[in-house]
Amino acid sequence: MASEIHSLKIAIIGAGMGGLTTALALAKAGFQNIEVYEAASNLGFVGAGIQMAPNMAKVLDHLGVWQDIVKDGVVIKETSIRKGSTNEELGHVSLEHIESAFNYPHMVGHRTHLANGIYNGCKNEKAIKVFFSTALDSVQSFGPKPSFIVIPRDTKVPVKVEADILLAADGIKSNVRLDMLHELKADAEVEDSGQAAYRVLLKREDLQKDPELLELLDSNQVTRWIGSRRHIIAYPVAGKTIYNISTAQPDDNFAAAPSATYTTKGSKPAMLSVFEDFCPLAQRMLNLVPDGEVCEWKLRVHAPLPTWIHGSVALLGDACHPTLPHLNQGAAQAIEDAAVLGVVLARLPDAKPESINKALRVYEGVRKERAEKLVAMAAANGKAMQLSSGAEQEERDKQFAALKAGKGPVPDKWADGDVQKMIFGFDCVKVAEDTFQQSFDAM
Ligand SMILES: Cc1cc2nc3c(=O)[nH]c(=O)nc-3n(C[C@H](O)[C@H](O)[C@H](O)COP(=O)(O)OP(=O)(O)OC[C@H]3O[C@@H](n4cnc5c(N)ncnc54)[C@H](O)[C@@H]3O)c2cc1C
Repeated sequence: MASEIHSLKIAIIGAGMGGLTTALALAKAGFQNIEVYEAASNLGFVGAGIQMAPNMAKVLDHLGVWQDIVKDGVVIKETSIRKGSTNEELGHVSLEHIESAFNYPHMVGHRTHLANGIYNGCKNEKAIKVFFSTALDSVQSFGPKPSFIVIPRDTKVPVKVEADILLAADGIKSNVRLDMLHELKADAEVEDSGQAAYRVLLKREDLQKDPELLELLDSNQVTRWIGSRRHIIAYPVAGKTIYNISTAQPDDNFAAAPSATYTTKGSKPAMLSVFEDFCPLAQRMLNLVPDGEVCEWKLRVHAPLPTWIHGSVALLGDACHPTLPHLNQGAAQAIEDAAVLGVVLARLPDAKPESINKALRVYEGVRKERAEKLVAMAAANGKAMQLSSGAEQEERDKQFAALKAGKGPVPDKWADGDVQKMIFGFDCVKVAEDTFQQSFDAM
């Protein structure tokens, strides 16, 4: 890479999974001047588990941080989908084949390990500077040299920053998206999905007296209990020392707007009442949560955007394709965005703003359709897992029955073989490498 390209100044907003992986991918691609601006004073809310699919693993392994991240990870070998009301198993799917089919197993882990693993990778790169407690206020210009205002928390004095490229990984509440779409006169409103999620972590000692729950903690299984308009999904993390539970339900109990970190404390009694007609096992599990340790997340989305690019500015991750958690792909997709940005910017023929814009549009071409397809699939899977009655539910339950007999698709889509091929078998880096030149020349 020519030195004029090496030394382009790249500003990244947000030090979530998307922003940090982008910084790392760019440093590994040879860029020497990468600045990350993060509003929070540290890596933010990481008190929950996360499913780490093979397509996420492939990118992070290529960037040299995967082995560190999965030191305490748990390999998932099976998934069990059960009726919430009775604990009756509707479907059981082996995931043992995932590693040989896609080179990486399906893993689950603690968000802290994932976030810190990527951040540690960034800390090893001299090219990356991370400014915590420094929020982007507004974008002043989208090109030829993007500029924006940040406000450091200590001085509160607005500072203007200029860069050659601005990459916005500032999450679902993205200010950059708002400013970009405002300038493009397009609608940028976030929509409530009407759903919220409780997130709780149970320690091994909390489960000690309950052999059935201990068995789940000691398993290599993701378990989903489904019911009308609600479900619970749970799996062991942190070397099986913690049982991670996440739910989805109508947003009825959500009192206030979410905090800056997208979380608010949830009420344990409210959570118990939401799942009061679930089976005794689910009741016991939720009852073990210490008071004051229930988190509630509002699940939000927005319609597909007309574009992710304006001038020398690009959006990535939840800033442009927030994904409901029902396919376990939101962070994985942000990480795929990061990898593709690394590929396209490394192939810039020169440092001209027109070339930067073209390269960013190649990124959008590789990523937008796929990410938006998975957003829609995640929403559809959540709906299918929460059907109340009617023809759709009958059809789903027929599929579960056929599955028991070893036939047909898996209704819980992330465990379906064809869906796995489409999601896990996609090599975003290879696609970007193979198509870059032709797409760039055609812009
Ligand atoms: C309940 C739930 C379960 C999930 N489970 C999974 C799963 O199992 N697997 C999976 O792959 N994904 C999962 N996801 C999705 C995943 O968490 C997100 O898609 C992912 O975290 C998005 O990463 P991001 O970097 O784009 O955004 P974020 O993680 O939201 O990061 C944005 C960052 O930008 C910062 N920021 C915001 N505004 C500013 C500003 N103005 N200036 C500076 N910084 C700013 C924020 O503080 C934050 O650090 C789940 C999501 C939910 C809600």
